[in-house]
Amino acid sequence: VTELSDLVLEPAEMAELVETLGAIGEQLGGGLVRPVYSSAWALAREQLASWMGAAGLDVREDAVGNLFGRLRGAADARTILTGSHIDTVKLGGKFDGALGVLSALAAVRALAQRVGPPRRSVEVVALCEEEGSRFAASFWGTRGMLGLIDPAELDALRDEDGLTIGEAMAATGFEPDRLAEAVRTDLDAFLELHIEQGRILFDEGVQLGIVETITGIISQLVTVDGQTDHAGTTPMDVRHDALQGAAEMALAITRLAEAEGRPLVATMGKWDVQPGAWNIVPGRVRFWLDIRHPDEATKQRFAETARGQCREIARRRGLRVGSEVLQDVPPMDMDARLKRALAAAADRHGFSHKPMVSGAGHDSQVLARRVPTAMLFVPSVEGRSHSAAEYTTPEDAARGATTLATALHSLAY
Ligand SMILES: [Zn+2]
Repeated sequence: VTELSDLVLEPAEMAELVETLGAIGEQLGGGLVRPVYSSAWALAREQLASWMGAAGLDVREDAVGNLFGRLRGAADARTILTGSHIDTVKLGGKFDGALGVLSALAAVRALAQRVGPPRRSVEVVALCEEEGSRFAASFWGTRGMLGLIDPAELDALRDEDGLTIGEAMAATGFEPDRLAEAVRTDLDAFLELHIEQGRILFDEGVQLGIVETITGIISQLVTVDGQTDHAGTTPMDVRHDALQGAAEMALAITRLAEAEGRPLVATMGKWDVQPGAWNIVPGRVRFWLDIRHPDEATKQRFAETARGQCREIARRRGLRVGSEVLQDVPPMDMDARLKRALAAAADRHGFSHKPMVSGAGHDSQVLARRVPTAMLFVPSVEGRSHSAAEYTTPEDAARGATTLATALHSLAY
């Protein structure tokens, strides 16, 4: 008989896992650098594989570089998968992705050691690539598992040094032409624990978030063309200054977003001004516009309104504007049965929880296309993330891992 206490993970265990894995790829001034197929990434996987092996899990890696630890069930055919990504953004923290992998490890290790073999197999996964911080390959690991990688990407995606992702794979010991072997068709469920990366749980003092929907994202490259002119001899009233137009567009889009209110967000975080000289009127400006909303129709309507504003501003200033959609990801609802399993698990231990929207993209939104999926959020102190300041208390991490273990128990035994 399984006691509730068999499913409890301790804060000290979580802190030790986080610190040990978080030392791999840590830079002198703080912050992690652990991009896919790097030496730090390979070391982190070795550490995880050794933990998985010691816990009695069957360790395996696939053709893309996802790492699995399987707790074999009596009815072995179907699998319940849990985990997150092991790569980090440049100078990221020790929790984004990693805490989901480590909580999965701690949870499945506890089930293996304290409860014994399950009925259905449970597998821990360290997904190889989510962040797109070395190659523009976002969700590479999950896309590999679903057969959503286009083989042309192997030669097309390059890192800053010009190395293709296919070459980087080969240099790390993977065989790019065996990509198709990574496809999984045996998955019945995916549970991903992740840090919230925002401050809602932290501010409200709620212990866990159960994700309802992962937000939709549309990112566009807006190009504004005007005319380069001499900065000293061209009067203001005859200029076609691309930057002044683009700046007005940015302000208009920001005001529209503020008027729309939560949960819509619009961000213009990257700019390119040409020719980029202090004494030349800018002739061409490009800016990247990221719009997110959990409702697809609202997201598309807002994107269209923003494009209309840009066209009107361009017309008034004698400029040309065009926009190219770089990525258009629809929002993704999480699975109702798995959400209930997470909520019931939290309730059994008396942990407070609330339904949430994820404003960040996650592996779960890709896997959810084919596999019933749910996400559990733990609080991020002051909402900090993608930074060395990223932190989740060991107590919150332990509540998350305990809830995960309890939900896995209800699904697999
Ligand atoms: Zn993440």
